Amino acid sequence: MIQLTTAATLTNAITKARTVKPLVRVNRFGSYTVTNKTTGATYTVECAKRDGKRFASCTCTAGTRGQACYHVAAAVAAHIQLAAERAALNF
Ligand SMILES: [Zn+2]
Repeated sequence: MIQLTTAATLTNAITKARTVKPLVRVNRFGSYTVTNKTTGATYTVECAKRDGKRFASCTCTAGTRGQACYHVAAAVAAHIQLAAERAALNF
């Protein structure tokens, strides 16, 4: 589990996500499947808000160790986009 505080937490992961450009599929709001299109490796990222704090988890080795991986960076970008769309539509 990774606590998402500032964008700086994810700086390296965001840089890697921009290079790898993984495929992010939405399972549901807050749950994403992230696939490395080159290797085919697929992981699940969950995003959640608890007590006003934002958390993310990933099923990859780094993610299960609590490290900010690029899967989380890619999924969080999709999650923020989705959350903004939901807010705009007043869901
Ligand atoms: Zn990961």
